[in-house]
Amino acid sequence: MKDQLMDSLKSELGELARNSCMDFFGVAPLERFNGVHYRMRPQAHLESAKCAISIGIRYPLAMYENAGKSKAESYMSMDMYENNAMHSASLTAAMDISRRLEDRGWKAVPITIKMFRVKPYKDIPGFWTQDFRNDVAAVAAGHGELGLNGAVISPDYGTRQLFTSIVTDAPLEADPLYSGPSLCDSCMKCVSACKMNAISSDSYEEIEIGGRKFKTLRKDVWRCMWSKKFMLNAEMGPKLHGLDVSIAPPDGEITEDDVKKALSEKGAKGGLQTWYTYSMRECERECVPPHLRGQDIVKRHSEKRKKSQGG
Ligand code: SF4
Repeated sequence: MKDQLMDSLKSELGELARNSCMDFFGVAPLERFNGVHYRMRPQAHLESAKCAISIGIRYPLAMYENAGKSKAESYMSMDMYENNAMHSASLTAAMDISRRLEDRGWKAVPITIKMFRVKPYKDIPGFWTQDFRNDVAAVAAGHGELGLNGAVISPDYGTRQLFTSIVTDAPLEADPLYSGPSLCDSCMKCVSACKMNAISSDSYEEIEIGGRKFKTLRKDVWRCMWSKKFMLNAEMGPKLHGLDVSIAPPDGEITEDDVKKALSEKGAKGGLQTWYTYSMRECERECVPPHLRGQDIVKRHSEKRKKSQGG
């Protein structure tokens, strides 16, 4: 009886996610988070947690492929739709799911996207950490694998989606891990695509998710943020909006003070355009899983969607 109730709640939530624009919905059990810091696990957000729900939305695929490469020479749509529409849709879907869980008597905590602790915090080492690993939740819920570049790669869209999560004490049935052909063949295109040289080509980290071990290339997170967040490398996007100001980072370790200094120099040189620009994550765009290379991903998506709707 309880299982039936949970099955029907799970399908109700899945439908809610689909109606809220989500392309991914899956459930990850607690034990698949054992490889992450204890403060980033579902139980750290809700002591009575039984699982985490992972939801995700695909990028408008042609927008993603063409950003900065078409005659428009612009990243404006990427900026607006990623940072506004896609984020809002994801947060709204997480909120809807949390509210529905509460309506049915279960506790739920929706998780954020792109919020960081810039510096090490208490017993959490490292910079630019988050309070939950949406990437781990996505893999743990069966949406795909972690690639060498550290991004989640899904079999349908590669790296072209955004994930968030909801932690709940509803004992929903877990989804199996992805078990298809490997989605990362170590092509190393992520390493050469990064003009910040932020990704090492020979030093690795390892994380275990649900008994599977994923190797990711070590990333210099300050060097990455220098471009991705602070847009201090004109060649990775800003130049196409007319902001041709690049500030070279120091050799070796980058500090918060280096970033503050570089930002004021960029502001002084770039003027108002500094507020309107975008940096592309080329390490993710260059990443296309082997079976999708040379494929029309939109057509493939549409055919799959038609089939799932019985068309
Ligand atoms: S997001 Fe940009 S800067 Fe960061 S590793 Fe990827 S390509 Fe390099």
